[in-house]
Amino acid sequence: MATYNKDQIKNLLELDKKHYLHPTSSLRQHQESGPKRIFTEGKGVYLTDVNGGRYIDALASLWNVNVGHGRKELGEAASEQMGKLAYSSSFNNFSHESVIRLSEKLANITPGDLNVFFYTSGGSESNDTAFKLVRHYWKLKGQPQKKKIIGLERAYHGITIGATSATGIQQFQNMTNSLAPDFLHAAAHKTNCELGDKNDPDFARSIRGIIENEGPEKIAAVIVEPIQGAGGVIIPPNGYLEAVRELCDQYGILMIADEVICGFGRTGKMFGVDHWNVIPDVMCMAKGITSGYIPLGAVAITERLRDSLAEVSDDVLFHGFTYSGHPAACAVALKNIEIIEKENLPAHAGKMEKELKKGFEYLTENHSLVTKSRAKGLIGAFELFEDREKGIPFKPEKMAAQKLVEECLSRGLIVRAVTFGGTNIIALSPPLIINKEEIEKVISIFSDAIQEVEKSLKLQSV
Ligand code: PMP
Repeated sequence: MATYNKDQIKNLLELDKKHYLHPTSSLRQHQESGPKRIFTEGKGVYLTDVNGGRYIDALASLWNVNVGHGRKELGEAASEQMGKLAYSSSFNNFSHESVIRLSEKLANITPGDLNVFFYTSGGSESNDTAFKLVRHYWKLKGQPQKKKIIGLERAYHGITIGATSATGIQQFQNMTNSLAPDFLHAAAHKTNCELGDKNDPDFARSIRGIIENEGPEKIAAVIVEPIQGAGGVIIPPNGYLEAVRELCDQYGILMIADEVICGFGRTGKMFGVDHWNVIPDVMCMAKGITSGYIPLGAVAITERLRDSLAEVSDDVLFHGFTYSGHPAACAVALKNIEIIEKENLPAHAGKMEKELKKGFEYLTENHSLVTKSRAKGLIGAFELFEDREKGIPFKPEKMAAQKLVEECLSRGLIVRAVTFGGTNIIALSPPLIINKEEIEKVISIFSDAIQEVEKSLKLQSV
């Protein structure tokens, strides 16, 4: 383990504070106290910081380190590819072997005829690419007015302007209030409405209600996360995704699945949509595609879609990133998927779901503020309520979820608080290699940390 002396640590803290603008972070807190932790190493589910502190990374960092930290093979795959061909472009129909091999592999594991892939450097770029592709498709089909995209409330799709506009979380949109046009938001998971129940009081806010109000001739696509992640781990009821698929078919609208979190085993199957046997027209991926070892995203489209683009378009596809199909990133992705398959990680995640749920039950039985727990594979959450029987939430100023996350951190556990819209949701999505004993440790740390929060909020354990 690398060790740092006091002066080295002080120097790093000062330089960070002076020169690093942190993403999705409190700038005031950073300028007051510097970075919260400086990590130096990762192994399995653990991270180590400069002070030698060890942490269970129960969010897999940003829901992405699916195969766990410290996999030497992934570094070796990058090194080998860089030694041969570190970079070459895919513009103007140039190609190279690692992007070809990865595309073949993805075609084998993605559902249905999602057999054609465009590459990006991450989830936001993948979603923006999807929005442009579907609009381009309708334009080529002679329907240029068919360009609106419907996303869901509480959805998270990223931070480029298109992806922010599709995101259904106000805080991200408030940053500039200058959003891309032609994005609409529907209430999430209103299965009855999507099946056509016009008497449902939420009908006007549902995807179907919006389509009928706007006119299907104006709607290009609907985008959904199979399970909403950053919105607070919201699992749709069975039948919802199927209803959205049917609705899209009925009205001639394309369906985009944002698999950026759910993809590559997270939910207990290779892709989130696999739980409901739904095949979208476009599927966006990132994160778990390389387990975060190197930036990469991908957009899968059906062969049908590609064929109609190629048939109608006699021109260039004017969309490409310098790093589309980066050779080293593709080599790492290929090796990463090989590990996921060889170690049967989706099935392992499915097995560990039971342990996680058992742990959540323990927390619910022993702590009166814990409620509404849920998990699918290794993505899960529970909520904190002031009075769960009466359904009274904590007031935001009590900072219940934030306090719990800090108490966990001080005990060596990294988890996420989701607090927008007055919620106190605690989300976790550990590396897919986590075992029963490690889950028990997570739950035991939670229990101690919750006790401390209960004390500070003057509640009693059950
Ligand atoms: N879609 C979803 C569902 C996500 O969770 C995220 C990232 N958390 C994104 C898109 C954006 O991905 P990126 O941060 O790689 O741009």
